[in-house]
Order: sequence, then structure tokens, then C-alpha cells
Amino acid sequence: MQVFYATQFVLPLPPGHRFPMEKYRLLRDRLAAEVHDVQLMQAEPATDGELALVHTPGYIQAISDGSVDPRILREIGFPWSPAMADRARRSVGATIAACRAAFRDGVAANIAGGTHHAYPDKGGGFCVFNDAAVASRLLQAEHARHQRRPLRVAIVDLDVHQGNGTARIFRDDPTVFTLSLHGQKNFPFRKEASDLDVDLPDGTGDDAYLQALERALDELAHRFDPGLVIYLAGADPHEGDRLGRLKLTWDGLEARDRRVFDWAWQRGLPLAFAMAGGYGHRMEDTVQVQVNTFAVAAAYARRWHNRPR
Ligand SMILES: [Zn+2]
Repeated sequence: MQVFYATQFVLPLPPGHRFPMEKYRLLRDRLAAEVHDVQLMQAEPATDGELALVHTPGYIQAISDGSVDPRILREIGFPWSPAMADRARRSVGATIAACRAAFRDGVAANIAGGTHHAYPDKGGGFCVFNDAAVASRLLQAEHARHQRRPLRVAIVDLDVHQGNGTARIFRDDPTVFTLSLHGQKNFPFRKEASDLDVDLPDGTGDDAYLQALERALDELAHRFDPGLVIYLAGADPHEGDRLGRLKLTWDGLEARDRRVFDWAWQRGLPLAFAMAGGYGHRMEDTVQVQVNTFAVAAAYARRWHNRPR
């Protein structure tokens, strides 16, 4: 399974910053040591032209040269630096690369990404550019060169926060289906309308969550016929998360991942996934949730590899 990463795993942040930047390096080290059949590859940065499939030229320019409005920067939550701009581009590049690899191998991943709070003209909530949105539009354009039927993309967003930027970007686009399962009382407090939103009450545990997921995937299958799945496998529904407000256990999250991979596998759909959020009281817990996701994913990648053709 090909797994893409940005060169700067770790963006230098001021002391005491609340974003757990170290988790990317920890995850990468654990994948290299523990998960078999994972091929770690560096992603190319997304170009201006690729970003412009979703983002406004003014915003792309402002992130590139550091002239971004201080209010937008405050909403993003990272100080600007050349490394911040480069990392944001490479994180989009990693999801693009994962989508292309998923068409070859069935399953592929971005070790970061899932930056679903980014809108065309502004970021927010630790998100600069919207990787899943740019990758969807770019893969659609690439697909259109050799296929007559447009590529339809399902974005399955199981980060605990609503994918508000993604919902807004594709609000009027019938070729991309946005599904978001999220905490009703959690950030963002003003939500957008996805194609399918599932609001979960505080304290939702494994059983209620998995039932809600089952219903949502059923409805997705009923309403839409995708050719590619992009999965945001957020670790923040875990009970040990500082921001999540839900109560999923290790087992519950593993069952969640298994269900999504299985849903795509049964339909023969390529699936690319990104890490999205995770803010454990203990950073190791967040990383453990993500290592578990990769272990499940690697098993599905082996199934694809061994399937009869
Ligand atoms: Zn989140």
C-alpha cells in the first residue's frame, strides 16, 4: 500500500501551541516499524493550477507569500511561515497522489490531510487548503480525458467535526457526494449542509455510532453511485480525545474503519484515505487509533492485490 507524506512532517510551532504536530512523525515511525506492506513515499506539492480548481487565486497567493489576512490566519490557528505554506501544498499533493494510487492498487493513503474546514477563499480549524476537494476535482479532470462518464466521488468524512468547507465547496455539485458524521455540539458551530449530515449527541458510544454509520452508508449507496471514495478517518471520535465529545473505543473505531473499507471493497471502489483530526489527552492514543486504521487498510490493500482479475 502506498502512503504519501509531506516533507515537513513537523511544522515548527511556538511553545505551548495546542496543535499536536508531533503525531505525524510518531505515526510515520510506527507505520514504518509495525505495519507490513506499507511503502512510504514523499508527495509533490500541489501546483497553483491544481489548488485553483477549488481555491481563489487571491487566497492561494496570500498563503504563498505570507500576505494572508491576520483574521484568516487566526481562524486557521497556525502562524504563517514558508514551511507552513509548503506543508499545506504538499498535504494536498499527498491526497492527490493517494487518489491516483488508489486507482492502481485499490487502497492508498495520505499520512496527513483531511483538511475539511478550508473554504475556497479562507482556511480555518488547522486547515489551510481543502485536500479532498482539490483531489476530487483534479481526478475528475484527469478521468475526463479518457472516460466519457464523469467521475463521481463520495467523500466519507468521519472526523468528529463537520466537513463544513467540503460541504460548501460541493453544495451545488451533483458529481461529488459529501457525507459527514459529526458531533452535533462540536466545532464548527455554524454548520453547512452536506449531501448527508448525521449529527451525533455528546457521549455517543460504539453501538449507536456504528448503527448511524450503517444507515448513512446505506443511504449513500441508495442516492449515489461513486467511482472513487475519499475517506477522512479522523481519530477524534475516540473517548480519549480532548475535543471529540464522543465515546468510541479502540474496537469501535476499528469496526468503523473496517465497515468503510468493506463498503468500498464490496463495490469494487478505489478508496484513498487521509488522517484528519486527532487531539488525544495522550498523543500516543491518537497515534494508536491511526496505526489501527492503517493496519485495517493494509489488509484491504492485500485483498485488492490478490483478487482474481
Ligand atoms: Zn476533527
